[in-house]
Amino acid sequence: MKENYDFMMPSVNFFGPGVIEKIGDRAEMLNMKKVLIVTDNFLKNMVDGPVKQTETSLKNAGVDYVIFDEVEPNPKLRNVKSGVSFYNDNHCDSIISVGGGSAHDCAKGIGIALTNGGDITKLAGIETLSNPLPPLMAVNTTAGTASEITRHAVLTNEDTHLKFVVVSWRNVPLVSFNDPLLMLEVPTKLTAATGMDALCHCVESYVSENSNPITDAQAIQGIKLINENLRRAVANGHDIEARTNMAYASLLAGMAFNNADLGYVHAMAHQLGGQYDAPHGVCCAVLMPTVERWNMISNPERFKDIAVLLGENVDGLSKMEAAERGIKALERISEDVGIPTNIKSIGAKEEDFELMAENALKDGNAFSNPRKGNKEDIIELFRQAYEA
Ligand code: NAD
Repeated sequence: MKENYDFMMPSVNFFGPGVIEKIGDRAEMLNMKKVLIVTDNFLKNMVDGPVKQTETSLKNAGVDYVIFDEVEPNPKLRNVKSGVSFYNDNHCDSIISVGGGSAHDCAKGIGIALTNGGDITKLAGIETLSNPLPPLMAVNTTAGTASEITRHAVLTNEDTHLKFVVVSWRNVPLVSFNDPLLMLEVPTKLTAATGMDALCHCVESYVSENSNPITDAQAIQGIKLINENLRRAVANGHDIEARTNMAYASLLAGMAFNNADLGYVHAMAHQLGGQYDAPHGVCCAVLMPTVERWNMISNPERFKDIAVLLGENVDGLSKMEAAERGIKALERISEDVGIPTNIKSIGAKEEDFELMAENALKDGNAFSNPRKGNKEDIIELFRQAYEA
């Protein structure tokens, strides 16, 4: 754990049922004159969905906008490139992303390319941005990545299949919205995957070597909330209490990892997402038990805490036995919400493990993992997750 640390928070986050109505006023306050809304085609056309509600609020405030609807899951550099042209062709001066992590990251990518130079691949890494992005707000619709409040932009180079991260405080949206009413129609599989991503954010932050007392408090509360609400949200998407608690947990998890950073689960998940275009939350959920079981010896006390937070009885157990209970509980929640158990089922191929292991160790999330591995270790973890 760190003794000295800086702590980054979102500048403004609106949270709760109905907060989307405030976005028009905020756009006006930020002096946005011509907004580029960044989203995908499905969300754009959703009747009374998040984009329509954003449009209504902007219209009520008299703020002009155009809609760029070409965001793909695991957003690609081609999406960023078209978004930049669309922004320039329409003389925009600001951006609002509407969607899950893909929309927010694509919007960040567009902003980065506009003000920091066109070749974003050269900016992969930590604190590489010299200039502020155009004014950016983010409307979140999944619970989730928390990209609406984070300094991370995760993008995929479709030519090399490499998913990379640009991490900078300049990426943090100025204003973000977490309105659980926008999440009621998220399909079951996506609810499960995004909820497991948020759980993974909590777990990786809690065991990260960059954790601090503030991020610990957030991760602990996030794990409790997800344990109590994810199954409910998957069972009934219209359970507003469960949706609200999941949105809250995702936000807490985001604040935690924005400061404590993540670990090998995310570093390896990015390789699966880049190579096979697999859903990010599923990649994280499938890898988490294997990686965290390997991490356990770095700090069994922390894994014992996770077991207790997930409702396990650890009385009379040794530290390592209690820690193992935590991993088993992670496996159980994943199974309960219908996540596959191995990476074979999401298209992974053994011949790719060597390259993916090399790239995972270069990923911006690898450095804070509590146990330090080499390429062979990562290949072995991919193998174990393949056979699981
Ligand atoms: P997503 O944004 O890729 O969305 C997946 C699908 O869900 C899309 O087809 C979208 O149309 C649909 N969808 C979104 N909201 C919906 C709603 N309310 N109702 C119905 N359908 C809806 O999914 P995601 O998991 O939120 O984002 C994943 C991406 O975020 C990955 O690329 C991942 O690497 C990245 N990520 C970023 C950060 C960060 O801090 N920047 C953190 C974690 C993950």
